[in-house]
Amino acid sequence: MRIDVLGVGFDNLTMAEAVEKAWTLLGQPGARYVVTPNPEIVEVCREDGEARAAVNGADLVLPDGVGVIKGAAMLGTPLKEKTPGVEFAGHLMAKMAEGGKSLYLLGAKPGVAELAAKRLQAQYPGLRIAGTHDGYFQEDGPVVEEIRRSGADCVFVCLGAPKQEKWMAANGTATGASLLCGLGGSLDVFAGVVARAPKFWSDHGLEWFYRLCKEPRRIGRMMKLPLFLVHVRQERGRK
Ligand code: UDP
Repeated sequence: MRIDVLGVGFDNLTMAEAVEKAWTLLGQPGARYVVTPNPEIVEVCREDGEARAAVNGADLVLPDGVGVIKGAAMLGTPLKEKTPGVEFAGHLMAKMAEGGKSLYLLGAKPGVAELAAKRLQAQYPGLRIAGTHDGYFQEDGPVVEEIRRSGADCVFVCLGAPKQEKWMAANGTATGASLLCGLGGSLDVFAGVVARAPKFWSDHGLEWFYRLCKEPRRIGRMMKLPLFLVHVRQERGRK
C-alpha cells in the first residue's frame, strides 16, 4: 500500500528495494514508468489533476528528497528513506550495464544528452546507449517513433515536471520500452553541466538550499516548499 502525502501516493521502499523493483519491471512485458516527486511536484499535483493522475498512475513513485520524507513523518506515516532520482538512475544504469539492457536518453538542451551518453558510457562500462534526443521538440510522434526504432529497453525522460510525467503516461506504451523513468534535471548532472550538491549539504537535508544559491532564479519554484509544509501541517490538524 502506498503512503499518501497530500494526494500523492509514495512507495515505501529503500533505495536497494526501489532499484530491485525497477529491474524486475524492466524484465517484464509492457511499459511501466517511474516518477520521483519532490514537494514542489506534490504542490503542482494539488492544482493540476492531469499531473496528479500521471504521477499516481506510475508503477513506482519514489520520494526524491528530504522534504517528502519530512512531510510523511509529520503525517505519522513515515517513509523508509529518500530515493533521489539521480542516485536511483545511477544504480539502475550499473545493473543495465551488467545485464546488457539498452538505454535511451530524452531531454535537456540540445547537445546535453549526447554529452551525458559519452560520460555515462565511460562511467558504466558496457552500458548500451540506444539513442539520444533533446527535450525541446514540438511534436511527440516523431520522437516516440525514433525511440521505438532504437529498440531501447529503458528511457530516461528528463523534460522537467510535470511535463515528463504527462509525457510518460501518454506515450510510454508507444515507445516500445519496458521502463521509463522521469528524472528532471538528471541529464544536466550526468553531462556535468550542473553539479549536484556536495554530500555534506544533502546529508543535512540542504540540497535545495545549495541549488538555490547556484540558481537564484529557482526562488519562485522553491517557494512551494514552505507552502508544502503549511499544507502538511493543515492535513495533520485534520487527522
Ligand atoms: N527541459 C526539457 N524540455 C522542456 C523543459 C525542460 O528538456 O520543455 C529540461 C531542462 O533543460 C532540464 C530539465 O528538463 O534539463 C528540468 O530540469 P529541472 O532542474 O527544472 O528539473 P528538476 O530536477 O528540478 O525536476
